[in-house]
Amino acid sequence: MRRYFSIIIGEGCNARCPFCISRPGVKSANPMDIEELRLAAQFARREGSEVCSVSGGGEPLLMAAKYKSEWGELVNAIECFSKRDLHSNLSIWPQGAMIEQFSDLTISLWPQREITTRYMGRDLHDRIITNCARIPGNINLRVSSVIGRDWCSDSEQVLDMVDLAKQLGAKQLTLRELQNAQHLDQTWMQEYHLPLAGVEEWLASGFPLIRQTAHGSPVFEVEGLEVCCYNYSKPGQDQEFLFFRPDSYGRYGLFTDYQDDSCRVDIPGGISA
Ligand code: SF4
Repeated sequence: MRRYFSIIIGEGCNARCPFCISRPGVKSANPMDIEELRLAAQFARREGSEVCSVSGGGEPLLMAAKYKSEWGELVNAIECFSKRDLHSNLSIWPQGAMIEQFSDLTISLWPQREITTRYMGRDLHDRIITNCARIPGNINLRVSSVIGRDWCSDSEQVLDMVDLAKQLGAKQLTLRELQNAQHLDQTWMQEYHLPLAGVEEWLASGFPLIRQTAHGSPVFEVEGLEVCCYNYSKPGQDQEFLFFRPDSYGRYGLFTDYQDDSCRVDIPGGISA
């Protein structure tokens, strides 16, 4: 069983991707208890988690911009993990972002400037590219993109994305379907959503499969880059996440369970014990 410690901080984003539940701005009605977080991180390490990921509900670096000291405390609270993965759209790089404290960085990216402009707003594409050039060389960069009509509908567009990821210095490109699609704008879905299977089949027909991830997703080598086809609808049976949310309770479960109170766990020594 592989275990992950996943911190979901706040809600809100500076982009407006049509498939995302995040809304503009930073929302954190209930700030995270940092001491509880530190105990949860230590508990997760003892329970065998090797990776700690920091993501939203939105864009985590908005939290870094708005709550500078809390962000610093949060990053310090997870120092018991050597593998710390920050998920960001990297369109902002606030002072004190402490990006150098992370071992891995996963950025969400639309593949072409006009698509980014359509969904994320003017100039964000250029800012993301500029910020990527600032990433310290020892950080593992992964680019992640939802597949869809217009930007991943044919082999040429997939290869364009591979090129872009390589230019940015990424070690891996992750292509993924939408998650929790039933909550999304169904008009947009009908127009743009594509199943991952088509891309996966095309990659399998022309590129070597180099491995399967722990959660069963195939990874191909495409022009010197690892390309992973990640399918949320087939969560691996050998994975478990300990989620930590701003309400300061840990929850064990599969990816989709992170709001489910029946999955709540007591953190030894913590306020919920
Ligand atoms: S950048 Fe990420 S968090 Fe922000 S709206 Fe797009 S998908 Fe959602």
